[in-house]
Amino acid sequence: KSFEQLGLHQDLLKGIYQMGFSKPSKIQERALPLLLANPPQNFIGQSQSGTGKTAAFVLTMLSRIDFSQNKTQALCLAPSRELARQIMSVVVAMGKYTPVQTEYAIRDALPKGASRVTAQIIVGTPGTMIHLIKMRVIDTSEVKVFVLDEADNMLDQGGLGDQTLRVKNMLPRTHPVQIVLFSATFPDHVRSFAAKCAPNANKIEL
Ligand code: AMP
Repeated sequence: KSFEQLGLHQDLLKGIYQMGFSKPSKIQERALPLLLANPPQNFIGQSQSGTGKTAAFVLTMLSRIDFSQNKTQALCLAPSRELARQIMSVVVAMGKYTPVQTEYAIRDALPKGASRVTAQIIVGTPGTMIHLIKMRVIDTSEVKVFVLDEADNMLDQGGLGDQTLRVKNMLPRTHPVQIVLFSATFPDHVRSFAAKCAPNANKIEL
């Protein structure tokens, strides 16, 4: 299967090819039809880094954004600032031919002086994301997609799991939010956390 056949927008295909990807990786080929389905459905994916999972969830976020709206529509949480930066680099590269606006919610890259962030995609770590939502710098009312990367590492670091659930509880209840969770491993505590975060999810294991 090709990226075209997955139904991705022309502007995203341009970004994908510019990155040098000629065809979907195995996980992308299996996950993207589920991730991009309408109506949106929750998703839980087991996948190591190196499989192309980042592109899969980044394309999901980019595909669901209404670029005419300067409102935050996707939040992505990672267990470390470094991973948040890596994810952001993929968002920027894949979104190169879209007008996407992005912002970090990480401690050393807080939006400076902004009382309100209108970026469509915000990538960060759980604690800082909570802080910015509480301060009403980030408005979650139009969020449509919530991505959790490396859920197992999230739970290994005390408190990040609880903080992630707190962010989830700050999402709007007026419309459905698609929750997308990836983890390399699924021991019992990760499995129950995933089920709590992303109920009734489509599941993919590699
Ligand atoms: P990840 O699993 O997200 O950590 O990605 C692993 C690596 O695979 C990254 O360096 C990506 O740039 C690369 N990659 C992701 N998707 C593809 C693809 N469809 N074709 C070739 N390389 C890819």
